[in-house]
Parts: sequence; structure tokens; C-alpha cells
Amino acid sequence: MKTEFTDLQMQDPAIQRSNSILRSCVHCGFCTATCPTYQVLGDELDSPRGRIYLIKEMLETGRKPDAKTVGHIDRCLGCLACMSTCPSGVNYMHLVDHARKYIEENYQRPLSERALRWMLARILPYPMRFRVALLGAKMAGPFARIIPDKRLRAMVAMVPKQIPPVSRNDDPQSFAPKVARKKRVALMTGCAQKALDTDINDATIRLLTRLGCEVVVAKGQGCCGALTHHMGKQSESHAAAAANINAWVSEMDGDGLDAIVINTSGCGTTIKDYGNMFAGNPLEANAKRVAAIAKDVSEVLKDLDLAQGGAPEMTVAYHAACSLQHGQQVKSAPKDLLKRVGFTVVEPKDSHLCCGSAGTYNLMQPEISAQLKERKITTLMAKNPDVIAAGNIGCMMQIGSAAGIPVVHTVELLDWATGGPRPPKMDVDHTAHKIPNLR
Ligand code: SF4
Ligand code: SF4
Repeated sequence: MKTEFTDLQMQDPAIQRSNSILRSCVHCGFCTATCPTYQVLGDELDSPRGRIYLIKEMLETGRKPDAKTVGHIDRCLGCLACMSTCPSGVNYMHLVDHARKYIEENYQRPLSERALRWMLARILPYPMRFRVALLGAKMAGPFARIIPDKRLRAMVAMVPKQIPPVSRNDDPQSFAPKVARKKRVALMTGCAQKALDTDINDATIRLLTRLGCEVVVAKGQGCCGALTHHMGKQSESHAAAAANINAWVSEMDGDGLDAIVINTSGCGTTIKDYGNMFAGNPLEANAKRVAAIAKDVSEVLKDLDLAQGGAPEMTVAYHAACSLQHGQQVKSAPKDLLKRVGFTVVEPKDSHLCCGSAGTYNLMQPEISAQLKERKITTLMAKNPDVIAAGNIGCMMQIGSAAGIPVVHTVELLDWATGGPRPPKMDVDHTAHKIPNLR
């Protein structure tokens, strides 16, 4: 694609990077076929190619963005299916990151939207605040129908039936391996996940220590910064990421780390990109060191001797989170591990398509998100699974809110098959949460 940035604009490193991304797009349109928003809305401007054109216009003119452009970019899920499809290697992720930051700095959103984004940025990354908000939203549940704002209604509807007690496993500490030590790894314990589902970190720690890992929860680590990063709020996202980088570098320079293990793939995509986030920043070198050893939990597990067999006879529908399959290109490891321990693994039609969770997308764009959720659950349930597995808490909450069967993290099943407890979610009645007429 031809671009026309001025020499002055090209002095900005962010423009230089976006310029080369824009120039790599050949406008072939292959990406439109796999873009969920294009499939739902059918508007070229809600496709990757359309958005790339809008971003080019917005950055080249250097003007304040208009509401129409912002709307099309806001409707992007950030699922990155377009990056998996693109034959020219267009880095849409970095381009849309730039666009979101530009919009945040140059566009005044309506007051209600600014208030909502402010609230989300100040609650979700902080587990205690998020717990309090979840309890408040739970109390508002019976009045959900009369809440006038559709996004607040969507938030209340997403609150899980049970909010787990705090797990002390998430506190800074070190867990000794149960057999001779093979690796020393840091576990990213996350933020929202610590409030929504403590079973995932508990199962990860049990599984990794059983397989010979010393597991460290580093002091000072917290939210990965993805939530505010995707809102274009750079100072907040950089502050969160810098705290993690300092916490993990301190462990790397101390007793050493073989990997930083991430069991929320949305966080993993961001942490693996820390080097780019901090390009030109004094923290760049350490950000790159952290990114170099950041791994999804399935990538670490595939290098450990997971016992074969052991799983109960059960069909698992594997939902590939976009951040894992597109953002990190981790596609086969979770399925291979589930098969290795003896589960029958099935996959839904159109497994490349997003479930509509996408960070805070289900709260900000509830209508599109609901359509994608229904489509995803329909295709998953068409495989008649006993349980659905995913590697990202956002997808688990989104699909679990209406699947009618248990939705668990892949590590919970692997832990169960290799000596851990049956995942508690398997024994909860999920039938009340079910889209009618799906099964
Ligand atoms: S597939 Fe790639 S090169 Fe083709 S239009 Fe989409 S982003 Fe551009
Ligand atoms: S990130 Fe997803 S929603 Fe956004 S343009 Fe790419 S495919 Fe479409």
C-alpha cells in the first residue's frame, strides 16, 4: 500500500513502524474471509483491510479522528485472525495498537464511554477491587433488566454464580518440585483471573511441581498491562508491564528462571510483545529478556514428561483462544497434551473464529459479542462434548455463561488426569446457563 507521510511525520518512530506495516499490505483482502466482525456486519470498513485503510488515513492526515473511524476501529476484537491469514505478514497487532493510542490521545469520547473506560481500567486489573465490584454486580443481578445502559447490563450478566475465596497460592512465594528439579519457572498469576477463578493457578502449580518444576510467584508482579494497552492508555499499561519486568528480572538475576509461565493467553500475547512495547525505552533490554522466556503453560508442559493415559473416558471440545492460536501461534500443544493423557479431543467448525470475549469487548460491544458467543457455543455443542476446555479465562467466562456444560482450563484437565483433583466446575450444575435449543 502506498503511503504519503511527510518527512516530519517520519521522524516519529511510531509512524516509521506503522508506515512499514502499511506498506507491507498488498490489499489482497484474504484477511476479510476470517475476520469475525466482517462476517457479522458485512461492512468492508469492519474488516482488517478496511480498518488498515482508515488507520492510514487517520495517521497520514494527523487530524483528530472522527466518530465513524473510531467506531470501526473500536469494533475490532483484536483477535488477530487476520494476522494468521495474511500472506504478506502484515503486523496488524502493532498497527491497531498505534491507532488505539492515537485515538486515546486525540479523540474525546462521550462522557458515559469515558466514565466506563475509566472505571474498567481502575477495577479489572486490581483483584481486590474487582472482587468488590463482582459482589456489587451480583447484588444488582435481580435488577439487571431495568439497568438502562446496555454495557452495564452486559457486565452484570457476565458475573459468575460463585466468586471463589482468595487463594493464598497467588501470594509471592516458591513452590518446591515434587520430584528432582528440572526447571525453575515463574508463574504469572494474573489479575482478573485471581478474582474469577482461583482453580486455574492452583492446578497449574500442582501440575508443574509434580512434573519437576520449582514454581515461583515473584514479588511485585501483577496485571500484564493488556487491558489498558488495548484501550490505548500507554502510561497505565507501561506502568503495569514495568512492574512485571522488574519483578521477573530480579528472579532471573537471582536464582535464575527457565521460563515465565502464563496460563491466560490474553496476557501471554502482551508479555511476549513487551520488547516492542518498550522499544526505545530504557527498559527495552530487560523487556526483551522477559519476552524471550515468556511461554504459554502448554509450551512448557510439552517439554516435560507428562504421563500418557490416566484421563477418564470423556470428550473434550477444545476452544482455541484467539490470543493463543493467532496472537502466539500456539495451536497444537494444548490439544496434543489433552490427547496424550487420554481425553478424546474434538474441535468446533470455524475454530479460528473468536468467541466474542476479547478482553473487555463483551462489555464494550455486547451485541456483536453476543452473536459471536452464540455462534461459538452452537459449533462447540454440535460436537456433543462432555466438557469444554480453553486456555484463557476470558473465553472460559464468555462460553461458560451460556454453554450449559462445564468449561474448564486445559491445565485443570491435565492436572486431574495426572493425579490432581477433579475440577470443581465439573460438579456444578451449568444447565441454568444455557442458550435455549442448542442441545
Ligand atoms: S491479507 Fe494481508 S495483505 Fe491482504 S489485505 Fe489483508 S492485511 Fe493486507
Ligand atoms: S483483529 Fe480480528 S476483528 Fe480485528 S480486523 Fe483482525 S480479524 Fe478482524
